Amino acid sequence: MSTDQPHSSTEQDTGLLPRAQLLAENLQAVLQRISSVAHSPNSVRLVAVSKLKPATDVLAIHERTGHTHFGENYSHELLEKAASLPTALNWHFIGALQTNKCKHLAERIPNLWAVESVDTVKKADALEKGRAALLSTSPSTPKLRVYVQVNTSGEESKSGCQPTAAPVLAKHILEECKHLTLQGLMTIGAIARSRESDIPNEDFLTLKRVRDEVAQRVGIDSDQLELSMGMSEDFEQAVSLGTSNVRVGTIIFGQRPLKKDAAI
Ligand SMILES: *Cc1c(COP(=O)(O)O)cnc(C)c1O
Repeated sequence: MSTDQPHSSTEQDTGLLPRAQLLAENLQAVLQRISSVAHSPNSVRLVAVSKLKPATDVLAIHERTGHTHFGENYSHELLEKAASLPTALNWHFIGALQTNKCKHLAERIPNLWAVESVDTVKKADALEKGRAALLSTSPSTPKLRVYVQVNTSGEESKSGCQPTAAPVLAKHILEECKHLTLQGLMTIGAIARSRESDIPNEDFLTLKRVRDEVAQRVGIDSDQLELSMGMSEDFEQAVSLGTSNVRVGTIIFGQRPLKKDAAI
């Protein structure tokens, strides 16, 4: 065996693939897997979750593929990345949200496309305050889209409001938060449930049911509310169950360094 000729082996060649190209190919592969199960083409938005990964990774994907939707979990990290990267990016805040960070996020990042982790009236009100302040100085900024995060699995480690609390919170956002847009509902769900491959993940079914309840409560059609569910391990299942938005990190960017966020 020619162990002394590493350059000729396929494995070595893959290892030498420039990171930018690798990231772009990983993203394209996820897009392809989405479209092979989606009910209609381009009906599902892919949020590439870049938390704990360098800004250069985000830029590489954006430049090579034109992809614009990226997700972050930590407010300081998002503030830094948003300040250094092109304003054409559409940021999603998907992490556990602290009330005292909400105003800042909504006010300082005009291209914050959505906050997906709103689970209390207090947080909605703080985001509302921040976006109102931004709009008063910069009136062409869009309203801030928000998703109500629902704890569908009942796990204490997961944030999100109880399913029964979602309609009230949604109604509050619609009626009291004039600078926010209610975009839909989000869940993380229990990965273990997606691994029981024969039956659909109960969390995904719960989120669909909660969407119907919210729609009825606020008097709109269910299909006017998006679903955000599905991650690296279970996004195809979420897509086949009709999600509008998936949040995928690891299979695009690789394993993350060990983190502060034990829940995920
Ligand atoms: C980290 C994270 C993701 C991405 O998870 P992967 O398993 O890396 O795809 C999705 N959603 C939320 C809320 C996250 O915190």
